[in-house]
Amino acid sequence: MSVSATVIGGGLAGSEAAWQLARRGFEVRLVEMRPARMTPAHRTGDLAELVCSNSFKSDLETTPAGLLKREMRLLGSLTLQVAETCRVPGGEALSVDRGLFASGVTEALANCGKVRIERTEANADRIEEWLADGPLIVATGPLTSDALADWLARATGSERLFFFDAVSPTVVAESIDRTVAFAGSRYGKGGDDYLNCPFSEDEYGAFVDALLAAERAPLHDFEQGIRYFEGCMPIEEIAERGRRSLAFGNFKPVGLIDPRTGRRPYAVLQLRPENADRTLYSLVACQTRLKWGEQKRVFRLVPGLQEAEFVRFGVIHRNTYLHAPKVLGPTLRLRSMPMVRCAGQLTGVEGYMESAATGLLAGLWTALELSGEHPTEPPAETTLGSLLAYLADPTDRDFAPMNANWGLYPPMEQAPRDKGQRRTALAHRAKVRFESWLRDLP
Ligand SMILES: Cc1cc2nc3c(=O)[nH]c(=O)nc-3n(C[C@H](O)[C@H](O)[C@H](O)COP(=O)(O)OP(=O)(O)OC[C@H]3O[C@@H](n4cnc5c(N)ncnc54)[C@H](O)[C@@H]3O)c2cc1C
Repeated sequence: MSVSATVIGGGLAGSEAAWQLARRGFEVRLVEMRPARMTPAHRTGDLAELVCSNSFKSDLETTPAGLLKREMRLLGSLTLQVAETCRVPGGEALSVDRGLFASGVTEALANCGKVRIERTEANADRIEEWLADGPLIVATGPLTSDALADWLARATGSERLFFFDAVSPTVVAESIDRTVAFAGSRYGKGGDDYLNCPFSEDEYGAFVDALLAAERAPLHDFEQGIRYFEGCMPIEEIAERGRRSLAFGNFKPVGLIDPRTGRRPYAVLQLRPENADRTLYSLVACQTRLKWGEQKRVFRLVPGLQEAEFVRFGVIHRNTYLHAPKVLGPTLRLRSMPMVRCAGQLTGVEGYMESAATGLLAGLWTALELSGEHPTEPPAETTLGSLLAYLADPTDRDFAPMNANWGLYPPMEQAPRDKGQRRTALAHRAKVRFESWLRDLP
C-alpha cells in the first residue's frame, strides 16, 4: 500500500482524521504507540479509547455541544457513526458503552481497506521518514509521549508547548452583573480591558470561608506530587496560608476605586477578556482544583458574579497542548512546518467531541489538498468555526484549552434581548452558515 498521508496518534482526533482521509480514497498510515507503550491514563490497545467519562455531552441541537455534533454528522464523523451503534441511556446526553465504542472505531478503521495501523512510538527520526510520503497530522493528545513532545518543542519553540493546565474559570460576559463589576485597570493604566469585582471585608470573609471548606477534585495517580509553580498555585492553597493572603496577593485592590463607593475595595477579583469580541471573561489568578459544582457555588459569592454562567471550570491537570494562536496557522497547520497539521487536545481544544472535531477537520483539509483543492475554514458563526476562531484569536491572554460553548459565537447585530431567544437565534445562524459553507465544500 503506498501511503498518501500519516496520522500520529490513534485517539479521538487521530481516528477521525484517518477516517476522513480514507473515506475520500487516500491510503493512510495511522501510528499508535499503544499497547506496547501506554499513556498513564489509557488501559487498552484500542483506538479512540475514552479515558474517563463515557459521555459525549448534550445531543440537543439547541446547545453548542449538540450543534457541534450536528456539524460533525454532516461531515461524516466516524465518532458519531460508531456512537450511534453503542448508545446507552444518558438523557439528553449522547453516552456510549466505552468498550464497544473503542472496538467499533478500531474495527471500522482496520477493516476499511485504506488504513495501515502501525503500532510504534513516533519520534523525530520516524517523522522525517514519514514526511517523505506526504503530509502528516499530529494528534497525540494530552498525554503525548516524551519523544514526540521533544520533537514538538523543537518544531514550535519549547515555551509554546505546555505540560499542565492551570486554568481559571471562564464565564459568559452577559452573565456578569455590570451594576457591581466595574471596568478599569489598576491606577487607570491599560484602559478598560479588565472588569473588577469589588469585595467588602465581610464579603471577602464569606468567600474565603466557602473556598476553604469546599470539596477538591481528587488527583489521578499520575498527577500525584505535581509541584506547582508559584504562579499556578491553586487559589484554595494560597487561601490556606492565611485569611488575608488573597487580599494581599491575587485579589489585591491597589490602584482601583469602586465608582459606587468612591473608595478602594477591601479586595478585588479581576476578570480579563478571553476573546476579541469580549463575550467571555476569565477570572484572573483563580486556578483551582475545587470540584466543578463547588466552583460554581463558591465563585458565585463574588460580588458581580452572583448569576455567573460558567463555560469552563478551573482545572490543574496534566495536559500537553500548544500555544495555538502563536504556533498554528489557518487550517491547523504548524506555521514552522506547513506539511504538518495538529489536531485534538494538542491544539488547545478541550473535550472528547472537540478533539474528534479538530481531527475531522485536519483529515478533511489534508484530503482536499491531496485532491488539488483549496480548503476553507467553516465561518466563526458555526460551532466548528467558533472553536477555530478561539484557537486563532490573538488577544493577549493566558491561552488555555476550551470546549464548545455559547460565549464563543460572535455576537449578533440586533440580537433579541431575551437570553433564550438570543440563543435560539445564534443556533439558527450557526446552522444556516454551516449549511452554506458545506454547499461550497468540494
Ligand atoms: C485523564 C484524562 C481524563 C479526561 N476525561 C475527559 C472526559 O471525561 N470527557 C472529555 O470530554 N474529555 C476528557 N479528557 C480530555 C480529552 O477530551 C481527552 O483526553 C481526549 O481523548 C483527547 O483526544 P485526543 O485525540 O486529542 O487525544 P487521545 O484520545 O489521548 O489520543 C492520543 C493518542 O496518541 C497516542 N500517542 C501519544 N504519543 C504518541 C507517540 N509518540 N506515538 C504514537 N502514539 C502516541 C496515545 O496513545 C493516544 O492513543 C480527559 C483527559 C485526560 C488526560
